[in-house]
Amino acid sequence: MANKVRVRFAPSPTGGLHIGGVRTILFNYLFAKRHHGEFILRIEDTDQTRFVEGAEEYIFNCLKWCGLEPNEGPEQGGPYGPYRQSERKPVYKKYAEQLVKEGHAYYAFDTPEELESKRQVIENFRYDHHTRMQMRNSLTIPHEAVESLIKEGTPHVIRIKMPENEQIHFTDMIRGEVSFNSSEVDDKVLLKADGMPTYHLAVVVDDYLMKISHAFRGEEWLPSAPVHILLWKYLGWAEQMPQWAHLPLILKPDGHGKLSKRDGQRLGFPVYAINWIDPKTQEKADGFMDVGFLPQAFLNMLAMLGWNDGTDQELFTLDELIDKFSLDRVHKGGAKFDYEKAKWYNAEWIKRSSAEELLPYVKDVLLRKGIENFDNQYLQTVIDLVKERCTLLTDFYQQASFFFEAPVQYDLNAVKPKWGKEKAEFFKAFAQSLVAENELNSEALEANFKALAAEKTIKVGELMLPFRIMLVGGKFGPQVFDIASLLGKDETISRIEKALTAFE
Ligand code: GLU
Repeated sequence: MANKVRVRFAPSPTGGLHIGGVRTILFNYLFAKRHHGEFILRIEDTDQTRFVEGAEEYIFNCLKWCGLEPNEGPEQGGPYGPYRQSERKPVYKKYAEQLVKEGHAYYAFDTPEELESKRQVIENFRYDHHTRMQMRNSLTIPHEAVESLIKEGTPHVIRIKMPENEQIHFTDMIRGEVSFNSSEVDDKVLLKADGMPTYHLAVVVDDYLMKISHAFRGEEWLPSAPVHILLWKYLGWAEQMPQWAHLPLILKPDGHGKLSKRDGQRLGFPVYAINWIDPKTQEKADGFMDVGFLPQAFLNMLAMLGWNDGTDQELFTLDELIDKFSLDRVHKGGAKFDYEKAKWYNAEWIKRSSAEELLPYVKDVLLRKGIENFDNQYLQTVIDLVKERCTLLTDFYQQASFFFEAPVQYDLNAVKPKWGKEKAEFFKAFAQSLVAENELNSEALEANFKALAAEKTIKVGELMLPFRIMLVGGKFGPQVFDIASLLGKDETISRIEKALTAFE
């Protein structure tokens, strides 16, 4: 690639970040790294009516959690800043004026009421080549009158003058040749009455000024492409237009339509990267981070939604993805979201990660549940012992908390029906036998346990479950002698004694 690769993620900070957005970030990032290029974050916040408290911060946090840090952006700075469109307001106006001067755009003075009354009388009203000559704009009002309206400060917008019946083409890196008829598109507003650009103008101007070489965005932006192509051409920048790729949608599990926040609520899985609480309605949407996903599992799962490397390999590190990623292997069709598969990725990544890597996440899970006093070394041993049993990071609470707190409740239904005096005697004797030990060793402990059972003629199989319930409270956890050896002599004895009272 001759020119430097510069890609951008350009979110409008209006709410939580949908996994489709994170996949767009990921594909941009992978492409940039693959080609030794730069990944830029640009905040597209020109629509002040859609301002949402905390939404920008939330995007920064999502990028941090995923480990997809931009090279340039509002927090990082960079040579093409500012990276927030609201701070670039003065930049756009001159381009809109240039378009008017050259006959590709016009001033429109129609008030919101006038537009509304048109909508009342014309069904499916659109401001376009059919209707523009019936409206109040610089195409219908004499030049001098337009000048005085502007001088007087009459509110107005600038609209693109879409040509009639022109074929507009471009080559999409995923879809190939795409073409549109210009008559299908209305005269979009480019500059609003408050002097702010709309998305259409700002995205083109900024992609140009920030020297963006490739623009990858969701399929929902495809209908905007003809407006953008014309703007690139009319502004005289056609040669510099980035190469585009419109990424396929992430579909509902049944394949019918785009996966929405509501699907997540209805089917009980997260659709956002991190929990999002709408500051106005307080409505909460779950995030993958908060339900217990590892970022690398989340990214691996997202990469595989619509892409593969041509083999059966499913588990990739971020470096492997960077190495293998190419847009020609991104599918054109939408990718069905499968939460069970997403969890599979997480379980696999938990297994693949070392105890040291998992430590900060597990600590966080335990801290949230109020378990505070732990030794890192001990916790790492616990993690190694239980990680095979965890699908979500939050599962570490059930699988590991009993190493830090004695059970307060026991699954008595599982013990009582087969409980009796002989078994109580057995455990008393077993606890007694531990007193003389120094350190508990799992194998030796098992051997002693079995020998004592044989001596008392009780089947070992009948003792294992009560022993487990004494130590952990329920029918879960790793091998019971491993648990006892890790808990240590004093704790094991104390749990046996406490449970004996509860089982009576
Ligand atoms: N601001 C648009 C968004 O919210 C950006 C679309 C694009 O990448 O061109 O997704």
